[in-house]
Amino acid sequence: MIYFLDLAKINNRFRVEIDARIGAVLDRGWYLQGKENEKFCKHFAEYCGTKHCLGVANGLDALTLIIRAHGFGAGDEIIVPANTYIATILAITENGCIPALVEPDIQTCNINPDRIESAITPRTKAIMVVHLYGQAAPMEEVRRIAEKYRLKVFEDCAQAHGAVYEGKRVGNLSDAAAFSFYPGKNLGAFGDAGAITTNDTELYEKVKALANYGSDYKYHNLYKGVNSRLDELQAAILDVKLKYLDTDNARRREIANYYRTSITNPRIILPEVYDEETHVWHVFTVRTEQRDYFQKYLTEHGIQTLIHYPTPPHKQPAFSEWAERSYPITEEIHRTIISLPISPVMTQHEVEQVADVINSYQ
Ligand SMILES: *Cc1c(COP(=O)(O)O)cnc(C)c1O
Repeated sequence: MIYFLDLAKINNRFRVEIDARIGAVLDRGWYLQGKENEKFCKHFAEYCGTKHCLGVANGLDALTLIIRAHGFGAGDEIIVPANTYIATILAITENGCIPALVEPDIQTCNINPDRIESAITPRTKAIMVVHLYGQAAPMEEVRRIAEKYRLKVFEDCAQAHGAVYEGKRVGNLSDAAAFSFYPGKNLGAFGDAGAITTNDTELYEKVKALANYGSDYKYHNLYKGVNSRLDELQAAILDVKLKYLDTDNARRREIANYYRTSITNPRIILPEVYDEETHVWHVFTVRTEQRDYFQKYLTEHGIQTLIHYPTPPHKQPAFSEWAERSYPITEEIHRTIISLPISPVMTQHEVEQVADVINSYQ
């Protein structure tokens, strides 16, 4: 079986180093808000090129806290791609804000900037872009619109750690950015973990306090905050894995390029790429009619695939108030999309096998 993602294999490459770092945490006996958190956040900020990085408990919290720290709430609208993972939208509704769903470009599955302006109203406060599947969103166009209407821009970087857009890494392309280190992401912890990056020192201080019971200094609570922190063990593990992120992303890119040049079956639509370095291939998606039949064929040939995602947010029972809405491009993507195995531990033989099996599909 060619696995979609073999996490044990991915993480075991760093076992000796990680064991040592976990041992150091145990020896120290300090589990929250200590040296490991400080070290990782410093390294991750340097990696992204931002002034600040705050470790939080997960990606959803990172997104939610960014919106909250800006003071956006009831009645405020935030532009967001209609085909994102539901967490991006939940961060908006959790703050009482209204998500203004915008259709993507079907070739890249990223937000279509030409459709943003018509979604802007006097109540619009921000544009939340998602670097979906690992590819940086068209930030230049987004920023131009944001400047024109004086909107904030936020990034959901949960799938795109390390992607570079016009010489800058994602996480450093907006007012504030959210990362997830969920185990399956390109930079994954051994449990839940997340981060916020920003160049805005005031905002950094505010999210830092909000994530720590609203406390700006010990036993002093400035806000009605929450508890959302990155623990020492996860920070230590992430600090080890961060050193290998670029090499791992390069291998993902190599596999993606192999798929893009070797998969020639006319029934399979390959993804479009703006520019090599903008994409870190969190997932490699293709589109095809009769997708479920295609998935069954791959399974029968020993290739595990996943669907990102089978149901768009506006069709989820949680958003039954949107059930009558229609986002045809989003729906078309969810109906036809399928993700092929891609990971830094796939062998060349496995990659070739995937392409061969797909080319023999009729
Ligand atoms: C994974 C993911 C999230 C949520 O991150 P968690 O750490 O699981 O809360 C948010 N947005 C996108 C696009 C994601 O892929």
